[in-house]
Amino acid sequence: MTTNKRNMKILLYAIIWIILTIISPKLGLFILLTILAYQIYLYIYFNSIKFTSIKDSIKKYTNNSNELNHHIQELKCSYINVKSYDYGSSILQDTSKYNLKRREWSNELKNNQVHNCSSTVCKNANSQPFKYLCKYFNLKTDEETLSNFENVLNDFAAAEQGKKLLQAEREIIINSIKNDIPVLIYTLSKERLIKELGFETIDLSDLYFPVYTFQYVSAGGNSSARCDIKLDVENLDKFVNYLSGIVKFRNSIQGQRDLMTSKLREQIKVRDSYTCKSCNISTHIEKNLLLEIDHIVPLSKGGITSESNLQTLCWRCNRSKGAKIL
Ligand SMILES: [Zn+2]
Repeated sequence: MTTNKRNMKILLYAIIWIILTIISPKLGLFILLTILAYQIYLYIYFNSIKFTSIKDSIKKYTNNSNELNHHIQELKCSYINVKSYDYGSSILQDTSKYNLKRREWSNELKNNQVHNCSSTVCKNANSQPFKYLCKYFNLKTDEETLSNFENVLNDFAAAEQGKKLLQAEREIIINSIKNDIPVLIYTLSKERLIKELGFETIDLSDLYFPVYTFQYVSAGGNSSARCDIKLDVENLDKFVNYLSGIVKFRNSIQGQRDLMTSKLREQIKVRDSYTCKSCNISTHIEKNLLLEIDHIVPLSKGGITSESNLQTLCWRCNRSKGAKIL
């Protein structure tokens, strides 16, 4: 999406330049030469010894920043591990004549989280999203699903928070060398500067949130409706509450457990005074430190979500713990 935007920008500039060139060829040539000279200046500067030494001086921070960026990307994959059961695979082909093919069908082929249904189901899904989500996408309303979605929620919340902290931290690092960078480059080519310093791009989109779609298309294809259920952090919070309501109702003795909601995560961080229980680093020392909530005994080993089984870990310690268990 960003590349698209950038291409549009370049196209717009090109059009403006062509118009200017038609009006005044001299001005057009002047602009072209200026841009060319600036590009050469950039090339020389970024390959200079001075810039290389600035780059080296913050290397520790850029590496750290990139590592956190990778970690956030991993957190976003959390949901893929939970994705519903494997029902086997098959190929569905739309064998209609070309003119009668329905676009909506090919959507389904690409994305298995689309459910084709009647208009009534589509409408009802809109008013009771979670109920219909479980029913039509075969999510069992049991303790295991609840735990899985708690995990996803925990990881997604950390990823969202991590993105903000990472940006803030980068800003601090770049600000610290601001005076060593030529003003022209700092103001005009900041994006390029960030890249040349060795920072990897942060993916800020929220496209990783799973979306479940109910889709109704009439037989003739003229009438259609759709209902999208996006499991972002806010909705996941509600979904976990919803699942817990059902599970507790069925099994009220074992129902004595906490829920991994945003509220509880914050509560645990406050209890541990924003300090990693493993390496003792805290947000008092590292302002933009990403703290995560860890199950001391993992859910997969029978641990439950309860205050006594939860602890605050910094993202580095949580990551290495995860690697050990796997
Ligand atoms: Zn730690």
